Order: sequence, then C-alpha cells, then structure tokens
Amino acid sequence: KTFKELRVSAPILEALSRQGYACPTPIQEQAIPQVLQGKDVLGCAQTGTGKTAAFSIPVLQLLSAGKPEGYKQGAIRSLILTPTRELAIQIDESLEAYGENLELKHAVVFGGVSQSSQVQQLRQGVDILVATPGRLLDLVSQKLIWLDKVEILVLDEADRMLDMGFIHDVKRVLSLVPAKRQTLFFSATMPRQIQALADAILRDPMKVEV
Ligand code: AMP
Repeated sequence: KTFKELRVSAPILEALSRQGYACPTPIQEQAIPQVLQGKDVLGCAQTGTGKTAAFSIPVLQLLSAGKPEGYKQGAIRSLILTPTRELAIQIDESLEAYGENLELKHAVVFGGVSQSSQVQQLRQGVDILVATPGRLLDLVSQKLIWLDKVEILVLDEADRMLDMGFIHDVKRVLSLVPAKRQTLFFSATMPRQIQALADAILRDPMKVEV
C-alpha cells in the first residue's frame, strides 16, 4: 500500500516524499487508518519499526482537519508522553518534518535543562506537546501547562516509562487529561502491568503488532 491509499492528506504526502519515504512500514500501514478513524490503538512495536511516524502522521492530520467544539486558543490538543529526552527530541523533529506544510505548532519539554526556553515556547500556544513525565508535571504544577483540552493522548514506550519509575507520573497525567479523548498506546513489550494499564485507559482499542 501507499501512504495515499491510507488516506494520508496531500500536505503530509508532500512532506513524506520530501523525506524520501516511499511506502509505509507495516506498523504505519496498520495504525494510520485506525487512528484517522478516531480509534484507540494499542501498538506493540520496537524502535526502528517506524512507530513514531505511525502516530505522528495521523495526529497531525486529525488536528489539522479542524478544531473541536469549545476549542480554546493556544490549548494543547495532543500530548505525546515519552520516557527520555532523546526520544522526545526525535518525536519533535518528526512532527516538524511531517507537518512542514501544516499550520500546527509543536513544542518539546524535558528535564535536565533550564525550563525558561521551554516556557517561552509554551507561551506562544502549542497544538502538540511532546514531553517527558517529570518536567511535564513540574510545568503543570506551576500552571504553565493545562491538559484539560487534550483530544489525543499518545503514550510512547510505555514499558520503558514503567521501567524508569514513571508509572505514578503517568497515572497523574492520565488524571489531568479529559476522559473523552483518543488514546494511542505504544510499547515494545506487554508485561502484565503494562497490559493492565492499557486495559484501564483504552476503549475498544485496535491492536497492532509488528
Ligand atoms: P522509529 O521506529 O519511529 O524510531 O523510526 C525509525 C526510522 O525509520 C526513522 O529514522 C524514520 O525516519 C524512518 N522511517 C519511518 N517511517 C519510514 C518510512 N515509511 N519509510 C522510510 N523510512 C521511514
């Protein structure tokens, strides 16, 4: 299949061809149509399979298709939670690349560096925020971030977030996003605790596996 056959929109198709992406990877072929239809997705995929694009492309497309009832200017519409700074930066760069023909704003926040430049970005209004859990909650507690308008939540490398001791932070974030939302859950492995978390937060998910 081609990205076009997966109903990826023209501005994103153009960006993908500029990236040199000829055709979707298996995880992309399975996940993109489901996400575009508004389904929750449980994705079992390692790094290197193209999982970042599997969620980034449809998130960009869904948000660019229009604003919801009750949209608030500058509100975060999609939150992508990921365990490490390296992954966060990589996801942010992917959003930049695939979204180059769109008007959506994205930003990235992670710990271990001064928050001031991150805060400055947030003040401009951000549609898609990529974040590591600790810094995210720090900024939430300072009332520099609100998560009550999140439409799409992505949990990336959920198993690694668990291994790194972020489970309480992840649960706190889950308590701050609206119950009515779309959730995309990616994990390389599915140990019992991760399966339980997925069961608790996904509604009628489509399972995709590579
Ligand atoms: P990921 O699994 O998300 O870490 O992606 C692994 C690498 O594959 C990244 O460098 C992507 O830029 C690249 N990639 C993702 N999707 C495609 C695709 N459909 N065609 C070619 N390269 C891709």
